[in-house]
Amino acid sequence: MSFDADVIVVGGGPAGSMASFFLAAEGVSVILLEKSAFPRYKVCGGGLTHKILAEIPFDLSGTIETTIRSIRFSHAFQHVFTRTSDEPMMYCTMRSDLDQFLLQKAAEAGTNVFTGEQVTGFIQEENGITITTKARSYRSRLLIGAEGASGIVSRVAGLRDSIEQGLAWEAEVTADPDDLKTYAQTVFLDWGTLPGGYAWVFPKKDHFSIGVGGPAVFSKQMMPYYDRFMSSIGVQNPQSSVLSPQSSVLSLQSSVLRPQTSDIRFKETLSIHSWPIPIRTKKSRFHNGHVLVTGDSAGLGDPLTGEGIYYAVRSGKLAAGACMEYLSGKTGDLDVYSQKVNDELMAELLEANRIKHLFNAVPLKIHSFVRDSDRAWRAFGKVLRGERWYKDVRNGFGKWKHLWPLVCFLAGIIEKRKEVNFLKKGFRA
Ligand SMILES: Cc1cc2nc3c(=O)[nH]c(=O)nc-3n(C[C@H](O)[C@H](O)[C@H](O)COP(=O)(O)OP(=O)(O)OC[C@H]3O[C@@H](n4cnc5c(N)ncnc54)[C@H](O)[C@@H]3O)c2cc1C
Repeated sequence: MSFDADVIVVGGGPAGSMASFFLAAEGVSVILLEKSAFPRYKVCGGGLTHKILAEIPFDLSGTIETTIRSIRFSHAFQHVFTRTSDEPMMYCTMRSDLDQFLLQKAAEAGTNVFTGEQVTGFIQEENGITITTKARSYRSRLLIGAEGASGIVSRVAGLRDSIEQGLAWEAEVTADPDDLKTYAQTVFLDWGTLPGGYAWVFPKKDHFSIGVGGPAVFSKQMMPYYDRFMSSIGVQNPQSSVLSPQSSVLSLQSSVLRPQTSDIRFKETLSIHSWPIPIRTKKSRFHNGHVLVTGDSAGLGDPLTGEGIYYAVRSGKLAAGACMEYLSGKTGDLDVYSQKVNDELMAELLEANRIKHLFNAVPLKIHSFVRDSDRAWRAFGKVLRGERWYKDVRNGFGKWKHLWPLVCFLAGIIEKRKEVNFLKKGFRA
């Protein structure tokens, strides 16, 4: 039976585009099916940690709107301090531009890109896969799921065990040009307010991307959190309220006092949307037969920070490598992919989860530690830049490091209790 391509990739986000790029660049025939017309808006902060740059073999600078060197921390809107680094800590992009650029690179490398093609299902047969879209069907030898949190490929392949949902809201908000200039290199980060969650401001070229995120169990608390966060950092323009199809009522009359405002003069809320962040909580299988899953489809979101673009790019690259080994006859199955994702990415994400437990058990202590200790601040920057990994954090505890799993386990119990309390009581007025 004939094939339309050796590999079909579903989804044109960072995971799908980079998997396709690496395959096509090595001469493998690839089709990428994407449901949306590009460029398309993606609900995302668009923050890139420095370590992504080492994974992408071409220059991303055209998509980078701002370079971050400072973080303004607050704990429950209070105890504000700003820390600055000589070296760039992260980069801010708009995902519509970044994803368009990556997809274009995949096409230039030889990928056949079909947009407006929504995959509705697939069937694995003995010697290939038939993929159906709303319009037609395609056949390939291998299938890479990179369809993001919607998860059609991972669901049909039975690869969604141990995935918990995070949830985040993202607003694009214009502001006074002077304020955009003042904060062009500064990220705002409020933590320790919503258990397991945080709020952020990422400066972009002509607006701020502002969001809140956390465990999906707090979905009802997120808009009040967003509202309070906005009140704590700036001056609201009463004209800036919007209601999008996915938004709940955005109350501008927050009852909260504004303890330590930065007084950003906000102008207009251009959009506000929510979207899930899938988080895998255990090592698992990331392939089934001739299907591999990557990025958000595989649940590779960072439970501590919500970062997913790096893990999407990296898993896309690993998937491409595993497909090439299989197609060249070097391996008889795709086991190596699941093994690599578990050994490399899941090991790191599970460590992130342990640090999350610890942070949520004693958020103010860690907040103060980052403020007062140069060593802690440097370590924070090194993890963001990819010079150190989460797993190195435990090594920082020297002779006490063997106690790390126990301490994090106990912290996890405290974290759970805080979550239950917060669910009962919510924000105090
Ligand atoms: C509010 C919010 C803020 C975030 N901020 C950050 C951040 O600052 N930094 C960071 O690193 N991560 C962030 N993330 C996480 C990040 O957005 C994701 O982890 C990342 O986009 C995953 O990339 P992906 O390629 O796996 O999936 P996606 O980027 O979601 O791409 C999936 C693609 O598949 C397409 N698709 C879906 N279903 C189908 C189908 N049936 N057929 C065909 N195509 C389909 C979609 O249209 C989409 O283009 C954030 C997430 C949220 C929700």
